[in-house]
Amino acid sequence: MSAPTVHDGSTRTVHDESAPMVRAEGVHKRYGKLEVLKGIDLTVRRGSVCCLLGPSGSGKSTFLRCINHLDKVDGGRLTVDGELVGYRQQGGELHELREREVAERRRDIGMVFQRFNLFPHMTALENVMEAPVRVAGTTKAQAREEARHLLERVGLDDRAGHYPAQLSGGQQQRVAIARALAMKPKLMLFDEPTSALDPELVGDVLDVMRQLADEGMTMVVVTHEIGFAREVGDTAVFMDEGVIIETGDPCQVLVEPEQERTRAFLAKVL
Ligand code: ADP
Ligand code: MG
Repeated sequence: MSAPTVHDGSTRTVHDESAPMVRAEGVHKRYGKLEVLKGIDLTVRRGSVCCLLGPSGSGKSTFLRCINHLDKVDGGRLTVDGELVGYRQQGGELHELREREVAERRRDIGMVFQRFNLFPHMTALENVMEAPVRVAGTTKAQAREEARHLLERVGLDDRAGHYPAQLSGGQQQRVAIARALAMKPKLMLFDEPTSALDPELVGDVLDVMRQLADEGMTMVVVTHEIGFAREVGDTAVFMDEGVIIETGDPCQVLVEPEQERTRAFLAKVL
């Protein structure tokens, strides 16, 4: 197995641009006795969109949480951008990341949840500015300019001064996407971003995600929006009970699945 990163002898890590953005090899995760991920093998190429589908409880959120350092894998190998999640390789040895190092790695990964989790006491603009100013040390003036640009990208330039409570669920979710983008992530994770929205608000959020995909963002999207997965996804992955049942071209997996469990699931969500 090749090393996840190439080292020049110092603490500096040289990124291997040919490595996939995400690679999972035999990833296991358990909570106590419950085995939630039972050997996940998955590759997400740079610039591609991977859509994860599967019944509730199949381990989709857990897998995203592992990618984003919110949970630790118990077995197997998980790399993001060629680097082993949770570890730093130094002089041929693996060292567990310190809290500060985890925070640094997490800055490169944007995550959008089902619940938008905006700061309620901040305007849309302030929500988007917050991390660049507080975490990245960007000047307020620059952060404000970039935040305005991001709100424009998600179609909310006219809502910059609104507080979350004054926005629809779909608008709040688009602010949440802009907020995640403000840290200029190399990978975006979406965990059922439209599941909590009224049906008429889903389209605007999916449009923003589609645009992001067109711009070349690498994305892992947990979604039950079959249309989105077919149109935007480069890969569809069907998971059930902690294993990948089927993976491939979305038009194949979601239209003519080979596995009975995939067919049964699709029959329920369509
Ligand atoms: P999905 O996102 O596909 O619905 P999850 O990854 O949320 O599935 O959950 C997979 C399984 O792991 C479920 O049985 C869930 O109850 C369990 N689980 C998730 N998080 C925890 C946790 N922090 N502690 C214990 N069990 C958990
Ligand atoms: Mg989930």
